[in-house]
Amino acid sequence: MSLEQLANPAPESPTQGNSIEATLRRPAPRIRRKPPQICDSCGRVFTRRCDLKKHAKTHERAFKCTAAGCDRTQGFGLQKDLRRHIDTIHRKSTFTCDYPNCRQTFSRSDNCQRHFEEQHSN
Ligand SMILES: [Zn+2]
Ligand SMILES: [Zn+2]
Ligand SMILES: [Zn+2]
Repeated sequence: MSLEQLANPAPESPTQGNSIEATLRRPAPRIRRKPPQICDSCGRVFTRRCDLKKHAKTHERAFKCTAAGCDRTQGFGLQKDLRRHIDTIHRKSTFTCDYPNCRQTFSRSDNCQRHFEEQHSN
């Protein structure tokens, strides 16, 4: 027995063994379990990340009402909510010129008053 044989006791040649293993043990298609998408703010669980992202926006309240004199400082999670707020709150407080047959509308009473003075006061 030579020293070389003792140092390499493997019966198969390493290259051959590797190629056989590579073909036999094909990497099984690993079903990667996606971690559940959990909302940090309320703990709701979503299966899809895009759903969580969409939901998270409702906590961000990124849509803020910019109407002058609006006392709603919180903002809205969805743009449609903001739009509804504007429709219900600010459309209601529209100021209409009282001058006969004018009926111009204004979002602020002072604008309406100024209009009245400028257009109808003489
Ligand atoms: Zn949430
Ligand atoms: Zn508002
Ligand atoms: Zn008018």
